Amino acid sequence: MTTLRLVLGDQLNPTHSWFSAVDSNVVYTLMEMRQETDYVVHHAQKVLAIFAGMRDLAALLESQGHRVHYLRIDDPNNTQSLTLNLEKIIKHYKCTRFEYQQPDEWRLDAQLETFAQKQKIDVEMCESEHFYTTRHEAGTLFKGQKSWLMERFYRQMRTKHHVLMLDAKRPVEGQWNFDHENRKRWTGTPPEPKDQRAQHDHSALWTVIEKAGVQTMGTPHASEFAWPLNRQEALADLDRFIKHVLPNFGDFQDAMSTGHWRMFHSLLSFALNTKMLKPQEVVSRAEQAWQAGKVSIATAEGFIRQILGWREYIRGIYWHHMPGYDQHNTFQHSTPLPEWFWTGKTKMNCLSASIGQSLEHAYGHHIQRLMVIGNFSLLAGLDPAALHRWYLGIYIDAFEWVELPNVIGMSQFADDGLLATKPYVSSAAYVDRMSDYCKGCHYDKKQREGERACPYNALYWDFFIRHEKKLSKNFRLGMVYRNIEKMDASAIESLQQKASEIKASLDSY
Ligand code: FAD
Repeated sequence: MTTLRLVLGDQLNPTHSWFSAVDSNVVYTLMEMRQETDYVVHHAQKVLAIFAGMRDLAALLESQGHRVHYLRIDDPNNTQSLTLNLEKIIKHYKCTRFEYQQPDEWRLDAQLETFAQKQKIDVEMCESEHFYTTRHEAGTLFKGQKSWLMERFYRQMRTKHHVLMLDAKRPVEGQWNFDHENRKRWTGTPPEPKDQRAQHDHSALWTVIEKAGVQTMGTPHASEFAWPLNRQEALADLDRFIKHVLPNFGDFQDAMSTGHWRMFHSLLSFALNTKMLKPQEVVSRAEQAWQAGKVSIATAEGFIRQILGWREYIRGIYWHHMPGYDQHNTFQHSTPLPEWFWTGKTKMNCLSASIGQSLEHAYGHHIQRLMVIGNFSLLAGLDPAALHRWYLGIYIDAFEWVELPNVIGMSQFADDGLLATKPYVSSAAYVDRMSDYCKGCHYDKKQREGERACPYNALYWDFFIRHEKKLSKNFRLGMVYRNIEKMDASAIESLQQKASEIKASLDSY
């Protein structure tokens, strides 16, 4: 009477109720598989971090007395396929029951559901015990509405979970949102916090991954690896963040600076998305820091909104619109990604810095992902599906449930406004306001045309001119279209000419 329980690579939560008692009739299985390393090209650090985390959890479970069947990537018995491996293991242990935690990605959910239907033994899917919301909670709240307002969802979450609330209805400090206070430029003070994460030497594991022939991108940094291995390390990272970094998070949430890859962000998304950390404990630590007078309400609220609001809302969008959400392409954009997405070698400083650090650290913070890389991609008309695959590969925290709506919806507006109320695009002016990237750039942030004109400028106007039919009725874009109306025909023509030149030779920019 043996039960097989599957632990996926993003289910590294040692406090799941499964593990609360040791049962000799239960075998846990964790598998390193080409199925998972190959569905897109991942960053080297992402493959390393997940495999190392899986190995660490397996070792912990064994040390607690649990039975574990671990399949390494180079194990000759590893079929490299989830379902073929499961079939073999079920047969090997003569299992009478198979259990798995609710997967977060539609791809794995569908695969396991099909597998379950074919089994003659009992199969049960249980909760992963991680999120605040169920898969379809946001979908139920917004039933029948074309566009989903995040702010409405967020207020509902604050009320339901009693976070930053005075009583059942009123937010603390009389306001739900302090976003307008969180938009400062950073000029070097206070200094960017030092990276104090624990380091590991994963060189041996990296050799195994390379030998197995797994294709990756980016720098592995295997011998001085800084992403957390387990919950203990993730909790230490959370603690340091709350004490030393969070106080400045709000002020510089949108700021960017050359050579400063982390700024005042938490770097917690990998630990959260692999479930080493619980969103509830991260939110509660930030709320306590405000209650203790250590951080301002604007900072605490701004940070909490990302996790209690955005993260859960994005998940709701994903489950409501999958399958098929990845196919959205409302602007019919189809330009392939330029070569420098894989090297960072572009003359545009902002993109070189943002893509360069993503390749170096498997990390870019929100504004780099949205207002530098995503912004350029939308203006240049890059293929959203190809862009989705790039984002899904490059970031340490990229799992489809959270990456896809952020890319297709928030960043590319490819879902025609299901998620965002207007496209998040800007000319060079925004990048210049929030960063020092334009300083010393090969291109001139002020020029729209000419050899040295910043490509964002002509592309920005060209984007709105090209998509006038679709966008000019959007009430948030009135100003843009009033400015276009003021342009004479020859100005429009030469802007479009410049934009066409850029789009025709993206690789050389
Ligand atoms: P902080 O800035 O410190 O924020 C704290 C936490 O808030 C994050 O750890 C994250 O859990 C949550 N959060 C903040 N914004 C969002 C958001 N928009 N959606 C969901 N959660 C959010 N996040 C991912 O976890 N995985 C992705 O693959 C991913 N891809 C993105 C792609 C694009 C185009 C954009 C615009 C955003 C993407 N994000 C993604 C959201 C966000 O950029 C990252 O969560 C954040 O940069 C992670 O760094 P951090 O932990 O230092 O975050």
